[in-house]
Amino acid sequence: MKKYDLIVLGGGSGGIASANRAGMYGANVAVIEGKDLGGTCVNRGCVPKKIGWYASQIAEASQILGPEYGFDIKVAGFDYEKFRTSRDAYIQRSRDSYLNQFEKNGVEYISAYGQFVDDHTIEADGELYQADHIIIATGGRPAPLDLPGSDLLENSDDVFEWNQLPKSIAFLGAGYVAVELAQMYQALGVETHLVIRHDRPLRSFDQMLSDNLVKHMEASNLHLHKNLSFDGFQKTSDGRIDCLKDGQVLLTVDKAVAAVGRVPNTENLGLDKTSIELDDQGYIKIDDSHQTTAKGVYAVGDVSGKIALTPVAIRAGRQVAEFLFNQAESSAIDYQNIPTVIFAHPAIGTIGYSESEAKEKFGSDQIKVYQSRFFSMYHSAGNHRQACDFKLVCLGEEEKVIGMHGIGYGVDEMIQGFGVAIKMGATKSQWDAIIAIHPTGSEEFVTMR
Ligand code: NDP
Repeated sequence: MKKYDLIVLGGGSGGIASANRAGMYGANVAVIEGKDLGGTCVNRGCVPKKIGWYASQIAEASQILGPEYGFDIKVAGFDYEKFRTSRDAYIQRSRDSYLNQFEKNGVEYISAYGQFVDDHTIEADGELYQADHIIIATGGRPAPLDLPGSDLLENSDDVFEWNQLPKSIAFLGAGYVAVELAQMYQALGVETHLVIRHDRPLRSFDQMLSDNLVKHMEASNLHLHKNLSFDGFQKTSDGRIDCLKDGQVLLTVDKAVAAVGRVPNTENLGLDKTSIELDDQGYIKIDDSHQTTAKGVYAVGDVSGKIALTPVAIRAGRQVAEFLFNQAESSAIDYQNIPTVIFAHPAIGTIGYSESEAKEKFGSDQIKVYQSRFFSMYHSAGNHRQACDFKLVCLGEEEKVIGMHGIGYGVDEMIQGFGVAIKMGATKSQWDAIIAIHPTGSEEFVTMR
């Protein structure tokens, strides 16, 4: 039996970060991962998505904006195979860099699926590995849609395996994944349908964002189907997919993709042989310090049901390692005011309370909202003017900024720095004290009246 100070089960963002941090402090660490190093983010999520998002920006710049700026551009086509080869080469370089980091930090990489045998022993490929401390970072996967014919549907993992662009796609769902993928494929020239159950996507975000996103979608070639849920799917004689409602074919597409949320990877971990419990939604139950119900066993990232964002998993994993091997006082992290970006077209950035959440929590009379609309100069040269919409949500007489929301060109790169101010508890007058950078979109955030 091999013994370690720390075993990390799962080699995604959270697992890799915790293992490296522990290794940096001299701990004897092993990472057990049965699939590709890098997990969802690197292989089937943030990274291939972001490269696709850039491709779609280039499509817009070359086909729409370039000619408006006076460039004589004729785009002969889009070589998806070439795009995929370049994208996947980047992903491979990322995976290689993880191996280098492991080597540098003395982390052992065990390429196999691991299963608990007891609270502190894991079996992988017939070997037994034991540690006083174990971090479970096995992530999640796309949630299936359970409807007649739903075996014909694909999910976001499958999308990144496609070898060619389909002619038409329907994305079913209304969250980050459905929005980002639908707008990306639409911009790349695919006939794209986004099918949502309600009247707008991203309903849990500030309504200003989702209302404006709908306007941007409606001004594009995206086919947005509101208030629609299919109840079944069938294959056509030419291999396409009919999407059905009450026995009627409402839409026929080459590909239909379910993007209806994610579920945690907790099966096949041998948890029944341990005292690790799941919560009522099936995530690994943890306390505020990421400690599971088995002493010395922690869980971080998507498997723990906390906010499912890569940097959150990384921060949590590193903090557990700091606590275990560098005398940090606690393995807890602050889950408040986490900035996030949805790589939509245009991008959406958000931190803190939405207007409705703030009014519900603190009372409407305590909340003052500032809004502004601006047209980015990036779109100034022709007829494709595009609005950027911004909102600040402020609390109490001192007007502490507790929410910041933006949709528009460049918002993805604007909000990280403002997050520092929000985290520090800055007030509106402190925001206004900073002199604006002109001409930029971010100046709107410090000049709102
Ligand atoms: P989300 O949970 O964000 O959204 C899924 C949405 O789909 C639901 O909110 C719901 O919206 C809709 N839905 C649920 N069930 C059904 C159904 N049966 N039929 C039709 N629609 C349904 O899941 P995602 O998979 O989009 O994303 C998961 C998480 O991954 C995100 O929350 C985010 O944390 C992370 N992520 C982050 C990204 C980033 O940082 N840019 C990118 C991608 C993912 P409604 O109730 O309105 O119908």
